[in-house]
Amino acid sequence: LNRGVFPAGCKNCQSEEAQGLQSLRIKRKDIFKAAAGELVDLELFVGSLCNMKCRMCDPNHSSLWSRELGEPMNSGYDPVAFFEKIDLHNLQHLRLLGGETLINKDFFRILDHVDRQSRSSQITLSFATNGSREIDDKIKSYLLKFKSVEVDFSIDGTGALAEYIRPGVAWSKIEANISGWVDFKKQTTLPMNLNVHTTIQSLNAHAIFDIVDFCIKHRLSWSHRVLTEPNELSWLRLPISVREEICRMNNSALDKNRVQEFFASRNHMSLFKILTQSFPGLEIKDSKELISYLEFWDSRWKTSWRSVMPSFWQHSFCQSAALEG
Ligand code: SF4
Repeated sequence: LNRGVFPAGCKNCQSEEAQGLQSLRIKRKDIFKAAAGELVDLELFVGSLCNMKCRMCDPNHSSLWSRELGEPMNSGYDPVAFFEKIDLHNLQHLRLLGGETLINKDFFRILDHVDRQSRSSQITLSFATNGSREIDDKIKSYLLKFKSVEVDFSIDGTGALAEYIRPGVAWSKIEANISGWVDFKKQTTLPMNLNVHTTIQSLNAHAIFDIVDFCIKHRLSWSHRVLTEPNELSWLRLPISVREEICRMNNSALDKNRVQEFFASRNHMSLFKILTQSFPGLEIKDSKELISYLEFWDSRWKTSWRSVMPSFWQHSFCQSAALEG
């Protein structure tokens, strides 16, 4: 990267930067200033064990996707053995990703290792979870050893749309679990940031404000990234006519709630523009691939995009694309 060459594992940041978006690499670059050779910020993949099969995920990150496609589970390296070789002396921030981190025993084995090095109280622990695991006493006792904790709940919709995009766990369970995390944050003196992270894609561009409402209701912060892979689900697959319809819906939703204020106060205005303007110059011509993709997986999983996205289905483009498919 110092020579301007992106390794294969960095293609998401490369793709986001090519589209003029602010990649994770850029966002984090200025947070931690380290002397040469000092490891202050570490992000580690703990494994692909997962209890969900999100539509935009893949076998590298989800064991349920591996099973779906008849591929072996991604167990390319032992995260604990890797971690044990690392000098933690200067570490300030540790971020663990999965899979579903909280159902993976290696997540807790890594935290045990940090604890044995007596480093936990100096480190901010950060991790992503799909919200499927309730916060119990075991999790609380692990978290309380750290200097502070940042949790990213991966949420791409609410209600039936959430279950459609991220199948595997009922939305009611996820909402109840997140309430449990919010209650813990209120009770503890541990500095905690509870954040909802959303992948903006063709399936949820019309429902982002529902997620924002959810964040406002539970006093959660919110972050997002615009999906680039798989490109069948990219927001840019939506034809201009559908995007215009989404913009109309989003603009009318603005009158009913506080989302505009929320976006402005949290520096999300560039996304706000995506959701309220249709950007006619940016159109991928083969947008019917989106409908073919949905139809293919709906028939395999016995789901129905028409029932969870009725406003899409009513759109003439979607009906004609489905009939042609
Ligand atoms: S919860 Fe995360 S790792 Fe699991 S399938 Fe969904 S996106 Fe992939």
